[in-house]
Amino acid sequence: MKVLGLETSCDETGIAIYDTDQGLLAHKIYTQVAQHAEYGGVVPELASRDHIQKTLPLIEETLKAADLTKQDLDAIAFTSGPGLVGALMAGATIARSLAYALNIPALGVHHMEGHLLAPMLEEKQPQMPFVALLVSGGHTQLVRVDGIGEYKLLGESLDDAAGEAFDKAAKMIGLPYPGGPYIAKLATQGNPDAGIQFPRPMTDRPGLNFSFSGLKTAFLTAVHDALDRDGFNDQFQADVALAFEQAIVDTLVIKCRRALEQEGLTQLIIAGGVSANKRLQQQLQIQLAKVGGSVFYARPEFCTDNGAMIAFAGAQRLLAGQSSPLNLSIRARWPLAELDPITEGTK
Ligand code: ATP
Ligand code: MG
Ligand code: FE
Repeated sequence: MKVLGLETSCDETGIAIYDTDQGLLAHKIYTQVAQHAEYGGVVPELASRDHIQKTLPLIEETLKAADLTKQDLDAIAFTSGPGLVGALMAGATIARSLAYALNIPALGVHHMEGHLLAPMLEEKQPQMPFVALLVSGGHTQLVRVDGIGEYKLLGESLDDAAGEAFDKAAKMIGLPYPGGPYIAKLATQGNPDAGIQFPRPMTDRPGLNFSFSGLKTAFLTAVHDALDRDGFNDQFQADVALAFEQAIVDTLVIKCRRALEQEGLTQLIIAGGVSANKRLQQQLQIQLAKVGGSVFYARPEFCTDNGAMIAFAGAQRLLAGQSSPLNLSIRARWPLAELDPITEGTK
């Protein structure tokens, strides 16, 4: 079964074709980052307009890269939530109309289920059940995964998502949007003994929830202190970036270990944009190895938003006979735990 996947929930148009026999055939991404950069964040109206303009040409390019025509497609999967309403509508309308015209099924996919399953596109794969850390621009959640669609929320951020904290901190020191990768790059030049200390929020009490907004305030205070004593220079920026990255990574690692222990599991997958963070990947590898655990993640371009994860997640559900009706429904807010399980046909 050849499934065309469309991701348009935010500021990336991602298109891919996944074949349930041959695997991923092609994937393309168009990022709107440059359009939104001057505003320091995503402008919803600009995002919807751009998806409308870019989706069809990108589908053509992806088909060409896979050496296929539209008639070769067996189904279309599109992101139907959560995300920006206009951006979701743009992708859903195109996907649904195209599937209708081709007389093939269409299926709305949960964006976070897409992220969660993205590591399954790689060679090194976990076996269910496992714990998933979803860590992106809009989410920081620990989820127990017993099967596709069988998700139990173990804990989540009570305020900012980890990616959001990275982006806000980056903005405070004048780095471009989205700031996570820029903080990570700066951090490689940082001195771990510079004496900048940030808290590891909510790690001193039991539970699996997170809170990152206080860390953001601590970051701002450190920057102001440096400005006051005339110490805001290139080296300080690298040092503060490193201290901030370490605080977020340590916090995530502590909670991941706790979640695995609580659930009696050994395998962890990390997914979403922040899972591309090298320090997070390395620290988890080191810390989980100590307790006989292992960590799985997707290649960097499948950690952030992409069409491949939607084509893949959609394919699992389409194989089990699921599809969406003709009347379009998208959901800007949509808890992962509300998804239906699938019990057969998974591959
Ligand atoms: P959601 O998936 O929750 O709806 P989103 O789609 O905007 O949100 P993603 O595209 O999955 O989020 O991830 C983007 C986020 O990942 C941004 O906050 C970005 O700063 C962060 N990010 C990307 N790469 C890195 C990295 N190497 N280190 C830290 N953060 C990173
Ligand atoms: Mg994005
Ligand atoms: Fe995302």
